[in-house]
Amino acid sequence: MQSDSCLGTLFIVSAPSGAGKTSLVAALAEQLADVQTSISHTTRPMRPGEQDGVNYHFTDREQFLAAVAAGRFLEHAEVFGNLYGTSADWVDAQRAAGKDVILEIDWQGAAQVRRLVPQARSIFILPPSVAELERRLRGRGQDSDEVIAHRVAGAQEEMTHYGEFDFLLINDDFDTALTDLKAIFLANRLARPLQQQRHAARLADLLSPPANG
Ligand code: GDP
Ligand code: ADP
Ligand code: 5GP
Repeated sequence: MQSDSCLGTLFIVSAPSGAGKTSLVAALAEQLADVQTSISHTTRPMRPGEQDGVNYHFTDREQFLAAVAAGRFLEHAEVFGNLYGTSADWVDAQRAAGKDVILEIDWQGAAQVRRLVPQARSIFILPPSVAELERRLRGRGQDSDEVIAHRVAGAQEEMTHYGEFDFLLINDDFDTALTDLKAIFLANRLARPLQQQRHAARLADLLSPPANG
């Protein structure tokens, strides 16, 4: 098989709100070729500085539910009173083009994706402490006190699901966490079945009988 026929891997990244998944995934995508991050659809109000089609596809509840009914989402879930969903067609197209695809989704979405795509690899990111999580949410400066209190309260519930994930990463020092995250992606690219597909011609050549005895 040719290298471009390899299907990209689907990576699920989950974390309590404020643990740093968006920052880590954005930094990873800058450093690693052939990685695409899915832009979710959401009914959440846009935060200051966010852009439609960049951070999320912002939509209303009616449109969102119509897309659910039309089977357009690979997964969808309600998180903190807002609906979030991942476009199935976009994910399929990227993987078919050989790209590794990252889904930044909550544990409910992760469970749905695991059922549909058992080969998906999942990563859970933990903050160093609850106090630091709250500090980061406040430091981000984009949510009201009420929203922050709601998210801190929900963090422990989200974190009870860490055992469902393949990899566990602590985002204490950012650069250390980024190096760890990158290692997961790079190691996955060296997995034998993928390497076997990429290097089929080389393997055949290496294992063919010598030309002159
Ligand atoms: P942030 O994670 O603190 O930046 O806050 P957001 O409002 O952007 O996301 C809130 C939660 O929704 C997080 O737990 C995300 O993982 C989750 N989320 C975002 N997009 C999706 C999605 O497409 N599907 C699912 N299931 N969850 C999502
Ligand atoms: P999430 O997407 O999980 O909600 P963000 O990536 O938005 O989290 O990070 C939340 C806040 O914490 C941001 O202001 C970000 O700059 C900051 N942050 C992320 N990782 C670290 C870290 N290792 N140390 C200190 N601050 C961090
Ligand atoms: P799809 O998964 O098919 O791309 O879209 C799902 C839903 O989100 C549809 O109702 C669609 O109209 C809406 N949508 C798609 N792209 C955008 C966008 O860029 N912005 C907004 N606000 N909604 C979008």
